[in-house]
Amino acid sequence: MAMYDNHRPTAELQALDAAHHLHPFTDGDALNRKGARIITRAKGVWLTDSDGHQILDGMAGLWCVNVGYGREELARVASEQMLQLPFYNTFFQTSHPPAIALAAKLAQLAPGDLDHVFFNGSGSDGNDTNIRMVRRYWQALGQPERSVIISRWNGYHGSTMGAASLGGMKGMHEQGGLPIPGIAHIDQPDWWSEGGEMSPEEFGLARARLLADKIEEIGPSKVAAFIAEPIQGAGGVIIPPETYWPEIQRICDAYGILLIADEVITGFGRTGNWFGSQTLGIRPDIMTTAKGLTSGYVPMGASIVSRKVAEVINGSDEFAHGYTYSGHPVAAAVALENLRILEEEHIITRVREVTGPYLKAAWEQLTEHPLVGEARITGMMGSIALTPHKASRAKFAAKAGTVGLICRERCFANNLVMRHVGDRMIISPPLVITEEEISLLMTRARLALDQTLDIVR
Ligand code: PLP
Repeated sequence: MAMYDNHRPTAELQALDAAHHLHPFTDGDALNRKGARIITRAKGVWLTDSDGHQILDGMAGLWCVNVGYGREELARVASEQMLQLPFYNTFFQTSHPPAIALAAKLAQLAPGDLDHVFFNGSGSDGNDTNIRMVRRYWQALGQPERSVIISRWNGYHGSTMGAASLGGMKGMHEQGGLPIPGIAHIDQPDWWSEGGEMSPEEFGLARARLLADKIEEIGPSKVAAFIAEPIQGAGGVIIPPETYWPEIQRICDAYGILLIADEVITGFGRTGNWFGSQTLGIRPDIMTTAKGLTSGYVPMGASIVSRKVAEVINGSDEFAHGYTYSGHPVAAAVALENLRILEEEHIITRVREVTGPYLKAAWEQLTEHPLVGEARITGMMGSIALTPHKASRAKFAAKAGTVGLICRERCFANNLVMRHVGDRMIISPPLVITEEEISLLMTRARLALDQTLDIVR
């Protein structure tokens, strides 16, 4: 029996929640006034809240429940592993079968020579691992001055000091005295908002070349790595122009700097391949993964590292870094089972060949709606830009995010979870969503857009 009451009245739960629970990324004032939405159970793509509403989860939780909710196999392996070996560490020359098997499995799934794994507890501390690892790499090669990591404004890499510094969320930097030293940012490839008169192709090249400019500005001998999400997620699902990534890859290769692909969202099928790097044609030296690794059933992250980098890290003095829960046996067992489900049920192939194209066709039709400018989607991650005037790609007069928030509230009211980033609406449903559920998602999204239009007109 769980030590909590799933059937307590909503108002009581909300009051208790507001009294004691500090929430991540939540407006405390709104929480006190309106109370949290309380989710009590879930199955497939469906959430149930404390008032009994059935809500279609268009965000897979936080972009993570790739195999959908309520998979009994995952509960079973977690329970079996807890009885077998609930914890042991991987420090000081020790290991255990679940971590060994998972590292080998990830090495098999990852592209190119990415065949070593450092386990983390989440995406944020994974990116902290990456900062430490690339600095250690260059130090071990006798180039300790190569320590600067370049990332992008409006990128998101997590909430720890290191990861939030890599991220380009100015609001986060302002609240925490960030970024830490040794991090530099370049502008993002968001053509819709920032492309001006350029074509998407010209803009993609121009934004990629900012990396070369920044490397020259800092001094090529001081730059350790570039990190980016193949497709920005929390920044608003910004799908870069096709010219962007090939030019970034060329610049990283030309200057010999390491390339870190933050695949925390794009990993494990979201873009229709195992990894976003495969979809976007990127050859990273390190990939940050988390979320879909366990479909969010338990926390776990993994930095998947190239042989070239791993040999240097392993071949020098001990890498003085690690987390108590690096390679946690229960998380590793759940991850292995989750990967088995993704593979044996051909879930990623279905996203690439069936449900992804079906959703794309419906999603792109949203540009016919008077409020929608751009509608872009890759696999199971997409966004729409809301605008008062499509041709000029104008922004609303109201403070950025006002209209997006209205639309998000209308989605909730129609039992659909869709998130807003400023005045962009984003989706990232569980990968197991069916065509019928996609149709329902689209009907509810259109209804929410119509209602938003009525309010803002
Ligand atoms: N990197 C990316 C691209 C993310 O989207 C996120 C979370 O959304 C993170 C890192 C941080 O991961 P976590 O919240 O597991 O620490």
